Amino acid sequence: METLRLQVVGEAFKKKPLDVKAPADRPAKYFGSKVFNREKMYKYLPKDVYEKMIDVMDKGVRLDREVANKVAEGMKQWAMENGVTHYTHWFQPLTEGTAEKHDSFIEHDGKGGMVEDFSGKLLVQQEPDASSFPSGGIRSTFEARGYSAWDPTSPVFIIEDTLCIPTVFISYSGEALDYKAPLLRALHAVNVAATDVCRYFDPQVTKVTSNLGWEQEYFLVDEGLYAARPDLLLTGRTLMGHDSAKNQQMDDHYFGSIPERVAAFMRELEIVALELGIPCKTRHNEVAPNQFELAPIFEETNLAVDHNMLLMSVMKRVARKHGFRVLLHEKPFAGINGSGKHNNWSLSTDTGVLLHAPGKTPEQNLRFAVFIVETLMGVFRHNGLLKASIMSATNAHRLGANEAPPAIISSFLGKQLSELLDHIEKADKEDLLSMQGKQGLKMDIAEIPELLIDNTDRNRTSPFAFTGNRFEFRAVGSEANCASAMIALNSAVAEALVKFKKRVDARIAETSKKFEGTGHSATFHAIIDILREDIKTCKPIRFDGNGYSDEWVEEAARRGLDVEKSCPVIFERYLDQESIDMFESLNVMTKKELEARNEVKWETYTKKIQIEARVLGDLSMNHIIPVATRYQSQLLKNVEDISNIFPAEKAQKLSVRNVKLIEEIAERTSNIERMVEELVDARKRANKIESEHEKAISYHDTVEPKLDDIRYQIDKLELIVDDGLWPLPKYRELLFIR
Ligand code: ADP
Ligand code: MG
Repeated sequence: METLRLQVVGEAFKKKPLDVKAPADRPAKYFGSKVFNREKMYKYLPKDVYEKMIDVMDKGVRLDREVANKVAEGMKQWAMENGVTHYTHWFQPLTEGTAEKHDSFIEHDGKGGMVEDFSGKLLVQQEPDASSFPSGGIRSTFEARGYSAWDPTSPVFIIEDTLCIPTVFISYSGEALDYKAPLLRALHAVNVAATDVCRYFDPQVTKVTSNLGWEQEYFLVDEGLYAARPDLLLTGRTLMGHDSAKNQQMDDHYFGSIPERVAAFMRELEIVALELGIPCKTRHNEVAPNQFELAPIFEETNLAVDHNMLLMSVMKRVARKHGFRVLLHEKPFAGINGSGKHNNWSLSTDTGVLLHAPGKTPEQNLRFAVFIVETLMGVFRHNGLLKASIMSATNAHRLGANEAPPAIISSFLGKQLSELLDHIEKADKEDLLSMQGKQGLKMDIAEIPELLIDNTDRNRTSPFAFTGNRFEFRAVGSEANCASAMIALNSAVAEALVKFKKRVDARIAETSKKFEGTGHSATFHAIIDILREDIKTCKPIRFDGNGYSDEWVEEAARRGLDVEKSCPVIFERYLDQESIDMFESLNVMTKKELEARNEVKWETYTKKIQIEARVLGDLSMNHIIPVATRYQSQLLKNVEDISNIFPAEKAQKLSVRNVKLIEEIAERTSNIERMVEELVDARKRANKIESEHEKAISYHDTVEPKLDDIRYQIDKLELIVDDGLWPLPKYRELLFIR
């Protein structure tokens, strides 16, 4: 009889691609068809209501009840025309993914029948029974209420029969229980701080927007094979599995042609995503076999975050239709590349991207230098925190491995930008800046080469690289909510800009006396002075070398950068005084919120490792050891048969190999048994620890290392046990979709 594995492998390899029905229209036509965007607002809302909504969205004007009711009315009409029967507040709790609770539109009409109703009240606020969402103790279960409130800056959309309303999720005492609330506060902070600094250069600037373009990497596996791997099913990654003889060493997958079955999936995914207003742009194979990427055009950060959350859930749904499972885990397979989610980040005003060189005027170039340097200042000051913002039990497998950004945050600027900063730092100030009567400023930094924007000199090992008109935060994990990184980054930059402004203003006050009547611009003198100080200060964060090398770890430690590797220890950076001061001064998060969120982080970490340990323990005892033992019995029988037929000396000779295998199996299975016992003991000891913080550290230090030890033994067994008996789909089967 064939094992389950061989049956599912057989089935998987027979599967044909689904026919994806071509949409009736061109993408530009159906883009956003499932979104209540401005175009639909214009159509479905009375003119005065539409105008109020535009103010709410663009200027942050408060939404009053009257307007909300009218918006809800228009929304309901549009939704019902699209076959919608339910609505939900869609939010991003501190677990992974999104949460939703669907209610239908129906209400009693008071005459024994039903009407479909949807009021402004329901649109604006809901009270999900929130006791089961993690809150880190902010909301103890007896006062379980939290409420979700509409974020009108992210448009409402339709998934199948449900109207989804993006919301923040907040406790009754006002603390954020989600990612969106602090993100909106961080984006507000960076807008205010950056606008202030922009006004030195252009007093007309009224708003600075933070942009995010994410690149989502993912793996696909056949659904049947996935179902036959309890480790994938329960933990999102393979806890065992020997390398496939061929994996990524030929580099033949990257940008290669996309397998038919996968292409069909991608086509459908893109149609669905475009309908939801996600501006998908790029799709390609990634480095590892079965690894792919999807990237949209960048958007305002809050919207981009929502779109990424939405895409991850849509992906899972569409994949199942095509007989696939999407693996968003950062490291589903050992020995081959893991998945990240590069976060391309920039700031822009209504007039253009701020991190874009060269400008047309010296002022623009100076502004460019200021925003680059103050970004670096933020990243330098909070490099440990930024690492904490992307760290998780799952991403920890990827960081520091020789494929992904190292577990040290540094920034690659490229040759030209580095030279520019060096020049500003060292040049004679009078050369840099001299006043020529009424013609304004002359600055010796006008020569920023055109090439910069087309910078192909890319350092793939840098976790935070400048790539022409943006920084690319590459350390973000594929499974993560980008909001976490974006909260930390935008806050860090906002704080740097606030501090910069304060110091520049103080310097202007000093220098303006000196230059009184000379026609000198005290402002630009002050800016250059402070900029030069900051270029010196943040120098340790600049690193253009190989981030994978061991020397870098030593060098980074010498520079005072955070080189910690342990995930639960890295989370401590959220509670450093500098972090608390930063978040509190910008009104992004309070100390209480930070403490609560860290409790959730530590608890989540522990649970993940706990589940992995249990799954590996179970699989070892009820899959691997029994199968290895069965094979060992067959070998023993063979040895016995041989000894019955041949004379002793000859029999011994003929059985040398099998006897060796029998011994190896005996040794490895007993090792596994012993290690599983140790694993259980380590878990028991850790579980007794009261503090979530200490417990997570104990799981990291004592439980997690054992997983690798056990795996090593199992992978060796996989190599010797009869392939026909082996119960779990192997890497070579999981990783090559036909
Ligand atoms: P890569 O070569 O790194 O794969 P792409 O050119 O595919 O990068 O772009 C990656 C992402 O960066 C896309 O989402 C793109 O829209 C985004 N992007 C481009 N310019 C900016 C910018 N100024 N700010 C933020 N994101 C940007
Ligand atoms: Mg990129």
